[in-house]
Amino acid sequence: MWVYRLKGTPWELDSLIPELFHRGARGLLEGEGEVLAYFPAPRDLPYGGEWQELPDEDWLEAWRRDLKPAWAPPFVVLAPWHPWEGEGIPLVLEPGMAFGTGHHETTRLALEALARHLSPGEKVLDVGTGSGILSIAAEKLGGKALGVDIDPAVLPQAEANARANGVSPRFLLGSLEAALPFAPFGLIVANLFAELHAELAPLYKEALAPGGRLLLTGILKEKVHLVRAALEDLPLVEEEAEGEWVLLVYRR
Ligand code: SAM
Repeated sequence: MWVYRLKGTPWELDSLIPELFHRGARGLLEGEGEVLAYFPAPRDLPYGGEWQELPDEDWLEAWRRDLKPAWAPPFVVLAPWHPWEGEGIPLVLEPGMAFGTGHHETTRLALEALARHLSPGEKVLDVGTGSGILSIAAEKLGGKALGVDIDPAVLPQAEANARANGVSPRFLLGSLEAALPFAPFGLIVANLFAELHAELAPLYKEALAPGGRLLLTGILKEKVHLVRAALEDLPLVEEEAEGEWVLLVYRR
């Protein structure tokens, strides 16, 4: 494991965090005037930071010690070794195996939107399930969730995370096409990226029940127009932002 140490003002560092994740960082630690970004191997990065190789044990130990629970009300996202007796609906996720530990703005935007929009018993489709976090959260709110992902490596992790949380969403390999036989869905949640949302727009509409809500995130502020243009015939009922990231909610 390699660590990329980057110094700067809190504002500069904050704005680079999403980019570091998108360039393959497996985890980040924020300190006084610096960020440590963990990568499996060094790569060319244009930010002027320094690389240092870590023995695997150091990385694991540092990661476990410094990883804090993440809040996305009403949820609190915990690693299996975090004790928790406080408030909130706990979601226990094995970190570092698949995207979706509650430490990224887009996951938190999606979790909070699920809590605002999901009614118990509703059928929920989670497109790009990763760790399974959004399907698990939907089930904890009383929904019946189906999670799909095109990456076969994440599905066993999503299944294991669901078992650890005592819920049983269904997970399938594939994208929206794989979910269409199970449509219509009262709620569709997808944390992908703007260009892909635009491409998937016709299938979102096909899979959504009348009156259903579509919760889309993973959208950078400067690309929000791409999603708006692709879904202009649906009413936009909410727009939320955290840092550089936007969540749009449509109703069919
Ligand atoms: N849902 C989790 C969350 O909100 O934290 C993980 C989101 S992660 C940013 C995006 C996931 O979408 C990855 O696991 C990736 O493999 C998957 N993905 C990418 N393109 C996809 C597609 N066309 N259809 C379904 N899943 C896709």
